[in-house]
Amino acid sequence: MLYFCYSDKYTGELPGHVFPIEKYKMVYERLKSEKIITDKNLIEPIKPLRKELSLVHTNNYLDDLFNLRFTHRTYPSELPLNQKILDFFLITTGGTISAAKMACKYNVAINLAGGYHHAFPDRAEGFCYLNDIAISIRIVQTDKLASKVLIVDCDLHQGNGNAYIFRDDPTVFTFSMHQENNYPIKQKGDLDIGLDDGTTDIQYLEYLQKILPGLIEKQKPDLIFYLAGADPYYRDLIGGLSLTNEGLKKRDEFVINKAQEKNIPICIVLAGGYAENTNDIVDIHCNTCYIAKKYSEKY
Ligand SMILES: [Zn+2]
Repeated sequence: MLYFCYSDKYTGELPGHVFPIEKYKMVYERLKSEKIITDKNLIEPIKPLRKELSLVHTNNYLDDLFNLRFTHRTYPSELPLNQKILDFFLITTGGTISAAKMACKYNVAINLAGGYHHAFPDRAEGFCYLNDIAISIRIVQTDKLASKVLIVDCDLHQGNGNAYIFRDDPTVFTFSMHQENNYPIKQKGDLDIGLDDGTTDIQYLEYLQKILPGLIEKQKPDLIFYLAGADPYYRDLIGGLSLTNEGLKKRDEFVINKAQEKNIPICIVLAGGYAENTNDIVDIHCNTCYIAKKYSEKY
């Protein structure tokens, strides 16, 4: 069974901001209306404990965050800092933690949010206050649900926070395919594919198909974290890759099928997406969910 993590608290107010915070509710409502999400496969997350956040983040940074202080540690988020936004990051991080645990137990789970891969231990960055992925990995490792983790980061932007956090950690392999000439300042990950501007479906899928099977074979992870970003889409406002909706579906199919055929649990998070029409972003995220459902029932 495919499990979804979602809460009606996956919301906030960012009027006029490029970060489309309303997309989460739109994805949920579409999947619910289509009965892809039911009472049986929906997990309602809770906020993580501060000691869980401390598995990744420093105390000075968490103090700033919980006191809503605008400092050199919080301002690089490029988002406002208020209680609602903090609550949003806490509850969506709770969702990624739940999805990671459910994936370990039931093979596939999706948090209908998450993928905040730019957050560093001691500071926010690029719309990310908490690194939900790194926190979740530390929790499933602590709980002994997984030991070796492979991050497959297909968001348009490099997962610089994750690359930094796991730079000396042989238990977590960071693989990122991203647009080279774009935000952020890159950190050295375990495997970085910096793509040219305008990279198309065919070129993108060639890289993925060439790299991922061997990587899984070599790393032998017992959990894959998949960041299924919608921002490689050709109509993205801040991205410069040229993938179509069909290309993104093929990307998702390849990653999810590879994990499932090898019987490796996969935890999926939505990550970025900044197309002008939010419905385009919702289409891409929903397609990821349909594909996850299909492959969760295949094996
Ligand atoms: Zn992104």
